[in-house]
Amino acid sequence: MSLPYLPFTRPSIDEATIAAVADVLRSGWITSGPKVREFEQKLSEMFAGRPVRVLNSATGGMEIAMALAGVGPGDEVITTPLSWVATGNVILRAGGRPVFVDIEADTRNIDLSLAEAAITKRTRAIMPVDLAGLPVDRDRLNALAKRHKIRVVEDAAQSMGAHWGGRLIGSFGDLVSISFHANKNITSSEGGCLVLNDAAEARQCELHRLQGVERFADGNMDATLAGGKYNLTDIAACIGLGQLPHMQQFTARRRQLAMRYFELFDRSLGCTLPVVDLQQSNWHMFQVLLPEGVARGDFIAGMHAAGIGIGVHYPAMHLFTLYRELGFREGQFPLAERVGRSIVTLPLFPAMQDSDVERVCKAMTAVLRVPARRAV
Ligand SMILES: *Cc1c(COP(=O)(O)O)cnc(C)c1O
Repeated sequence: MSLPYLPFTRPSIDEATIAAVADVLRSGWITSGPKVREFEQKLSEMFAGRPVRVLNSATGGMEIAMALAGVGPGDEVITTPLSWVATGNVILRAGGRPVFVDIEADTRNIDLSLAEAAITKRTRAIMPVDLAGLPVDRDRLNALAKRHKIRVVEDAAQSMGAHWGGRLIGSFGDLVSISFHANKNITSSEGGCLVLNDAAEARQCELHRLQGVERFADGNMDATLAGGKYNLTDIAACIGLGQLPHMQQFTARRRQLAMRYFELFDRSLGCTLPVVDLQQSNWHMFQVLLPEGVARGDFIAGMHAAGIGIGVHYPAMHLFTLYRELGFREGQFPLAERVGRSIVTLPLFPAMQDSDVERVCKAMTAVLRVPARRAV
């Protein structure tokens, strides 16, 4: 009688991909090899021929991007507090200073006017995030970076398949980092890629990716920088390769489901819906803000009791202990704080049925209408 549990997201892996992974496992070569090269080639073709290197996570890719952008001790990097904490952490790990600025109320993305006003002589880079796959204005972003001669490290972790001005995110710009984490629109279980500017930068990325080691034909080797260990396995690359042919169809289906949410959503509940963007967003997530006064924990528990998974992406990171210890305080970024307190991610993934959207909307009405669920 009771319906199956509906998670907030689930990857779609086809049988051909599962068989291809089994072939990799049987091949005797399971770490970085031919599948990694093929994955990089396919991604590069998608991204207008720009060089692409795959990595074991987007976090690793952003750490390398920090090094390539020359972010070091004392350097400032401007970014949004409303992101996965990796965005801020990679700046800290490079020895840099995250300079947060508030978001726009409608897009929930970094406010570029505030970003421009925050630029100082120590600003090395700006790191925009396309929350839920809704792109930051790339025309304004890239013009701003050019005007002030700063680097752009796009935390495009959620942006696979999103567009700006008809162009695929990743196919233009400066350094672009995309994630293939299990929850992202295209997955390799874990993994990511960095889109680079030229062959020299791609070579530097390779060195950072694997201990800075250069190998020579005679079997000798040398190390020229203290690289890390960020290489992707052929097993993971094979999963990613199996996903790419489905990207357009995945995005189209996500868009349809988002439209269904807009159609069916009970507006009388007082939730704030995302902006309607059916052109450029990849609909990585469908996120609403709960009305002020509704305890998010109670809402999540109520939905869970109805068999529906709800995500939280994300609390404003400047209020985490690590960032408070650096001097950040409540009240500094009121819009990000308001969104971070009340945002919830509703189920949205390509294999979902239209009836699942109805189920979520009905459950929301039931859960939010119960007066006892309102915090005092
Ligand atoms: C997922 C995500 C990351 C990190 O990606 P990983 O591949 O898990 O390292 C970084 N930033 C944002 C905005 C993300 O959504």
